[in-house]
Amino acid sequence: MMLYLAKDKLDVFFEKASEKLNVYVPVDNTNGSAYRKWTPGTVVSKGLHTTKSAKDFFFPQTENLVEFKMSGKAIEIIDPRRETEDYAVFGVRACDVRSFGILDKVFLSDPVDTYYKNRREHGLILGLSCGRPAETCFCGTFGIDAAEPMADVDFTEADNGYYIKANTEKGEAFVASLGDIFEDRDAAPAEEAKAKTREVLKKLPLSNLTTDGFGGDKLDELFDAAGWADLSEACIGCGTCTFVCPTCQCYDIRDYDTGHGIKRFRCWDSCMFSDFTKMAHGNPRLTQKERFRQRFMHKLVYFPANNDGEYGCVGCGRCLASCPISMNIVKVMKKLAKEDSGK
Ligand code: SF4
Ligand code: SF4
Repeated sequence: MMLYLAKDKLDVFFEKASEKLNVYVPVDNTNGSAYRKWTPGTVVSKGLHTTKSAKDFFFPQTENLVEFKMSGKAIEIIDPRRETEDYAVFGVRACDVRSFGILDKVFLSDPVDTYYKNRREHGLILGLSCGRPAETCFCGTFGIDAAEPMADVDFTEADNGYYIKANTEKGEAFVASLGDIFEDRDAAPAEEAKAKTREVLKKLPLSNLTTDGFGGDKLDELFDAAGWADLSEACIGCGTCTFVCPTCQCYDIRDYDTGHGIKRFRCWDSCMFSDFTKMAHGNPRLTQKERFRQRFMHKLVYFPANNDGEYGCVGCGRCLASCPISMNIVKVMKKLAKEDSGK
């Protein structure tokens, strides 16, 4: 048996959940879709996933870290953090759920990023299994099952409603707190829906893409691969791929002079930008080829080398859809794998 919520009760669910925490849902806009706080009347997007990933919830695009107020020779240090809100994010797909685990490895390992940690602890992830994966999806390449997001609570669409499964203690407590809003139903339709999703995934154009030839032990073979020159040639260094990517985590920290103090903030940065990590002595990566190589080597070699073989890509396909020159990680993998096998 499984818990079930009829589709026409979804608004009741959001309403009840909103009494306990802020609920964010994907909403269509002119650029695709983005998360918005649910209020009565909000229409939830039926699209596959949001244009930008959900990482902003834990790692916002910009945030103030600390402020310094000057008064004569006295300096007051102000922590701008307020009590983090409790919130839930609905409709997170399996690829994005996996990406949070990747970000955790970066931000929650020593030294722990307490800004990220606070938001992570206050957030509840409501996953949604993929009924209609896109042709750009290749989560399976990284061992992700689009039918089982493994979020705090998973929703599987079937039988004109959603079958619900809590995977964590936090998820169980949340589901239990909503009382009798759910029905108990036989789980068979949910299992059938998941099986259908897995069949669709097998037929996607990128279903045969593998990580063969990549991994933490491939530094020497891949770093000097001839293919980087061609692959990077047309890249304009716009950084779009890094900004839509759920696993990219580069940031910059800067000071803004307010006239009577300093606001220190951080904002997303991109290894694709020509001034990324520019220091007094200059920039360690002088050409776009080096910057381009860095992004993909990080996801396919450096990250797995330092994280028990886990890749830094979840196959969400966002970079396939958004690059202005149609370059992406799939093209990189295909070309380098071909080069490696001498074909
Ligand atoms: S590299 Fe591309 S496909 Fe991989 S997680 Fe980032 S945006 Fe998604
Ligand atoms: S989106 Fe495309 S052009 Fe822009 S930095 Fe990424 S690979 Fe280069």
